[in-house]
Amino acid sequence: QAKAHGGANYCFFSPKMNQQATDRLILAAALRDAIAHDRLRLVYQPQVHARTGKMYGVEALSRWNDPTLGFISPARFIAVAEETGQIEAIGKWSMRAACRQMAEWIRDGIDVPTVSVNLSPLHFRDEKLPEFVAEVLEETGIPPARLMVEITESTMIDNYDRTIKAAQALRELGVGMSMDDFGTGFSSLSNLAGLPVNEVKIDRSFMNGLETVDKVRSVVTAVIRIGQSLGMTVVAEGVEHEEQRQILVNMDCDVLQGYMFSKPLASDDLITWLAGYTPKEIAPA
Ligand code: C2E
Ligand code: MG
Ligand code: MG
Ligand code: MG
Repeated sequence: QAKAHGGANYCFFSPKMNQQATDRLILAAALRDAIAHDRLRLVYQPQVHARTGKMYGVEALSRWNDPTLGFISPARFIAVAEETGQIEAIGKWSMRAACRQMAEWIRDGIDVPTVSVNLSPLHFRDEKLPEFVAEVLEETGIPPARLMVEITESTMIDNYDRTIKAAQALRELGVGMSMDDFGTGFSSLSNLAGLPVNEVKIDRSFMNGLETVDKVRSVVTAVIRIGQSLGMTVVAEGVEHEEQRQILVNMDCDVLQGYMFSKPLASDDLITWLAGYTPKEIAPA
């Protein structure tokens, strides 16, 4: 905005704000370039059944390692992409890339039951989203049930009616729908009950207090019960230790994702990881 008043006015910003604005402009321009030159990559983080340790699926996460700017975290570039509208291109790219990857895994007999793709609020304003997903499914030939779409709670508050419509259309295609970062937004419960989602992911901020804070344990237990009573698969994110896994198994949580199993991996590394992975069953204590 300051720019519209001429370059001289930008002393209106504090030096720090100005630096941040410049950073964002540089990032936005570099990101446009990265998208145009297909320099984003997907990595895949395993998700396993809590009790048996068997593969449940993977979550696809975007990575950007820029030749000049270096590694830029998704927290930064996704935020920039959301501000500039580039998130739509990223969403389409990641959807297509994840489905192509799944087609390859299927062809090669690699045991990855599902792949989850993160979509941002803006995608759900696009009435053509279900059509686009249907096209990608057809193009790649993967069964719709092998794909999941993750949406965050805040998505739903922005555009509740349209989000429900889009989610319903995706479910009708046979695609799974997952509510991401559950517990970090508002009116969680009414959203959860009103949306056609078949999976809910407990935000990883709840994992810290799991071992030590009684109230955190109570909340997580309640979310698992509610999710399951609504017929959903409950996934815990950010599981780092064996102790957390045991607690989540005791609570009857369905699926676990986190560093204790693996960090997100490039497809080749995922295949190596899978080859060396032996599911370890544990019983509730
Ligand atoms: P998210 O969808 O909730 O993804 C989970 C994040 O938690 C990932 O961070 C993952 O690396 C991290 N994580 C998983 N297990 C652990 C653990 O045990 N400990 C810790 N400390 N972290 C763990 P990442 O890859 O940095 O992504 C951050 C967020 O950026 C994602 O959160 C998602 O909201 C967004 N994001 C990433 N890729 C995409 C994308 O392609 N499209 C969109 N729209 N958003 C994306
Ligand atoms: Mg996610
Ligand atoms: Mg999450
Ligand atoms: Mg998160």
